[in-house]
Amino acid sequence: MRAVLYIDKEEGTAVSDVPDPSPGPDDVVVSVDACGLCGSDVHSVQNGQCAPGQILGHEFSGRIVALGAGVTGWSEGQAVAASPLGSCGKCRICARGLAFRCPVAPNIGINAQGAYAQYVAVPARQLVALPPELPLELGSHAEPLSVGSQAVKLSGAGPGDPVLVYGVGPIGLYSIMALRLAGAGPIVAAGRSAGRRQAAADVGADVVIDTREISVEEYATQSGTRFAAVLECSAAPGAFTEALAVLEPGGTCVEVALTPEVASLPLFGMLSEGLHIAGACAFSDDTYRESVAHIAAGRVPVERLVSERVTLDDTPSALKRLQTPGSLVRIVSRPWG
Ligand SMILES: [Zn+2]
Ligand SMILES: [Zn+2]
Repeated sequence: MRAVLYIDKEEGTAVSDVPDPSPGPDDVVVSVDACGLCGSDVHSVQNGQCAPGQILGHEFSGRIVALGAGVTGWSEGQAVAASPLGSCGKCRICARGLAFRCPVAPNIGINAQGAYAQYVAVPARQLVALPPELPLELGSHAEPLSVGSQAVKLSGAGPGDPVLVYGVGPIGLYSIMALRLAGAGPIVAAGRSAGRRQAAADVGADVVIDTREISVEEYATQSGTRFAAVLECSAAPGAFTEALAVLEPGGTCVEVALTPEVASLPLFGMLSEGLHIAGACAFSDDTYRESVAHIAAGRVPVERLVSERVTLDDTPSALKRLQTPGSLVRIVSRPWG
């Protein structure tokens, strides 16, 4: 099959012919219909954090083409989305819903071969069926929507809660949709890119501010707003500290952006205001299944985020372009053209 392989930090990725995956006893092989290009892939390629030969890609959907000997309840030709997160189902980390950090089970597209490829092997327990009438590509949005949904769950935001989404990259935008599903609002989105700010309004933000013109703290002061929760999705320097400053008493700041920043914390303010801090990375199996259900029911306008579709051959250059995304939101790799 054809697949996009990580080469090295300088070259990035390249398309190559590799053997088709064969299913282990508890796996299926999925013919990949669509795989979203993720900022975390862009980062790990840029920072040389992948093993040579690694196939990235973890936001995918497709059709089952082969079943392992021990797999029951699934059939060839079935439309599926799949959580990339492996779980042993036994350890304390998995029991906490943090399969992503399971010390034994690998994650597809991170340390197991991923879906920038024509075929990918998937443990059957990670599959979720898609309705046959749903355009297959839509299933590929379940992964990033789950990241946003998990962040919203950690924030505790619900009906009537004012929430700030700081950063309007893909995860900020999926978080806005997840906040809408949770009934939270008003939702204020803050970002720099004009195109992505427009996307924030398109998917449900009530107010969108341009952080090149007004800072989040200035906005909060001028509008007299304090937030029940802030989802920090920007990785902008100082954003986390700013986020804490605009919370109302008892509010929660959830860090969702991949950032190497080491922030200092106003400890007295935290205790006197009763603030909460959480880090959101990945999601539970339940959250993933809920995301598929929301997409299948048409409750989230995920298709509005697709900026481009590219072939497998154009996927390496698209990953490079996402290093400076500008107004690009989501690029989808279509391995069969
Ligand atoms: Zn991702
Ligand atoms: Zn485990």
